[in-house]
Amino acid sequence: MPRRTAGFTMSGDLEPGEAAYLREAACRMLAGERQADVTRWVNAEGHRTTLGNPWREEVLMRTLLRPRTAGLDAEGQPIDGAPIIITPEEQKQLKALSPGRSEQVDEREYPLGGTAVCGKCAWELIPSWAAGKPIYRCPSAKPDDLLDLPAADGEAARSQPCGSISMNALMLEDAVAERVLAELLQPDAVERLESLLADVEAEVGRLKKGIKQVESRVKRLDAMVRTPMPEEAREGIVGALKVTRKEARDARTRLRFLEQMTAAELPYGDVDELIAWWRSAPAASRRVLTLLEIEKVRVGPGRRGRNPDPHERITIDWR
Ligand SMILES: [Zn+2]
Repeated sequence: MPRRTAGFTMSGDLEPGEAAYLREAACRMLAGERQADVTRWVNAEGHRTTLGNPWREEVLMRTLLRPRTAGLDAEGQPIDGAPIIITPEEQKQLKALSPGRSEQVDEREYPLGGTAVCGKCAWELIPSWAAGKPIYRCPSAKPDDLLDLPAADGEAARSQPCGSISMNALMLEDAVAERVLAELLQPDAVERLESLLADVEAEVGRLKKGIKQVESRVKRLDAMVRTPMPEEAREGIVGALKVTRKEARDARTRLRFLEQMTAAELPYGDVDELIAWWRSAPAASRRVLTLLEIEKVRVGPGRRGRNPDPHERITIDWR
């Protein structure tokens, strides 16, 4: 069963009762009430999440700060005619109220985001902040942007994250960087990188063509929806339009990601030049190289001890 987003109906209209209390929760916070107190108020009023659970402060904040709550798309651009629970301006003020977590996470680059996964449940680890330090952690609840996905979108959309794995970000990134560098020192590293890059360039070409086709499909469906027809038929086409729009969005995201790879200046030359490049390369280029080499980094549970070896916790799937 696809899940509904709090404040909205399955078809994306406002769910008036939920929208009203979410809006009041935001107003109370903006008026200076503590987030924990507002969360208690929401629960005391008998409101529950779409899963039927009491609200936790973290989940409530995430819901209020979701672009969709303010009628924005993932890039922060207003969606024409989208229903809103709070205005983008209110959302911005709300974000500024919780600098403790989100701001720090926003400001830091998490180069392994999307690459590091939980060694227990295989969910993507999310950038986070704990005890004054950046960490990657298995989410304790399903991230909101996955709630709308139909279950057919894969195992991840069906199962729940375990929430039990987290790792200090610097420790993880350094350990991965060491392994990537060691891999670069293999005799055929440069040739292999070049062939990986050629693969990426070929995929960029395919994606661009695919995106054009999907976009023209969106246009056709969009035109069909506007013509008169029986309600049942229209529902089917609206559903197809939604799926096709998501397909287009996903393809564009992947294209941006791959283009970033092909744009970086990668090292050529012998081992010494490689090491020199690695040491002096901007973080962004090192990141691209890491992404080129690595498919996934699986992070296992930590062992207690004074100086645990981070390498014992990570398993790398090389491309
Ligand atoms: Zn997990």
